[in-house]
Amino acid sequence: MEVSIAHSAELLHRANHIILTAHIHPDGDALGSLLALNAYLSAQGKQVRMLLDDEVPRTFKFLADWEKIEKPDSSEIEADLLVVLDASDLERVGKVRNAVKAPILNLDHHISNLKFADYWYVDSQAAATGEIIFKILNAVQATVTADMATALFTAIATDCGFFRFANTSTETLRFASELVALGAKPHIISEYLDTKPLAVIAALPKVLETLEIVDCGQGRQIAALTLRQEILADLREDTEGFINYPRNIEGVEIAVMFKETDNSVRVSLRSKTVDVSKIALGFGGGGHARAAGCTVAEPLSKAKRLIMEAAKKQLAKGVSIK
Ligand code: 5GP
Ligand code: MN
Ligand code: MN
Repeated sequence: MEVSIAHSAELLHRANHIILTAHIHPDGDALGSLLALNAYLSAQGKQVRMLLDDEVPRTFKFLADWEKIEKPDSSEIEADLLVVLDASDLERVGKVRNAVKAPILNLDHHISNLKFADYWYVDSQAAATGEIIFKILNAVQATVTADMATALFTAIATDCGFFRFANTSTETLRFASELVALGAKPHIISEYLDTKPLAVIAALPKVLETLEIVDCGQGRQIAALTLRQEILADLREDTEGFINYPRNIEGVEIAVMFKETDNSVRVSLRSKTVDVSKIALGFGGGGHARAAGCTVAEPLSKAKRLIMEAAKKQLAKGVSIK
């Protein structure tokens, strides 16, 4: 059933054993939301555990308490509530799905949300799940520490491209301002997020060599980057931001990044005017109009062909978002 912010707060208040989780391949929003909510609930004296079926990427290890995030094992966990953050379908939480037996509260902002939970609060106007967490904390007049403000600022800022994307609203900026007043330091957060190991910067020429541009007529193009397993080994999954290179090319409407894994291909999609969440949904993925993703269980060449064909079709339908 659909719930309000107040009802979400009430569900959290009523539960004692709470498991928090977020999507695999976690980003700043998934981790920031997870850590801020964990800090609040722990301070309330609740028994809280954070379970994530993935590693915490190096970039986000400046966030307080990241090392308290556990990986699910095969044991079954009973709880009063499982909170699923920043995920639009249950597949996105990986093994946590079967490891935890509890009613599910889903707090999310994806337009592609499948409303899979027992209780859901989905606001596709929110720039980040972090905004929803901040609203809940404000509704219960929680004490927001500097660490929590840092986590929430990171969540919000990373999902709206540091206030440059179309999802940046007056509320996004107001929340950011309030979080800075509570102790978040944008320049320090940016420094952590932008600092990369030398190997990642040094791999850029090889990454850019893979750039392919498909002309779809009327000056509109699709640009793609392909990261094969050899390159990914050097990058150690540190691929955040690469997709902006094809996205920022003049005339490019849709940018795609393919990441080859053992038996499937991870696909990231970005666009300026075309709803790419529709492309991702067609392959069992999801996301937002301008940023979406999916996993295609095919060899690289076939996955590329399928996605590029779907992207061309979506582009041919014309502009779908302003
Ligand atoms: P990214 O390309 O950065 O991995 O993902 C872009 C957006 O699409 C994010 O909001 C992310 O949550 C969503 N997304 C990426 N991959 C998937 C997927 O496999 N399934 C779903 N439902 N959403 C995805
Ligand atoms: Mn996310
Ligand atoms: Mn998000």
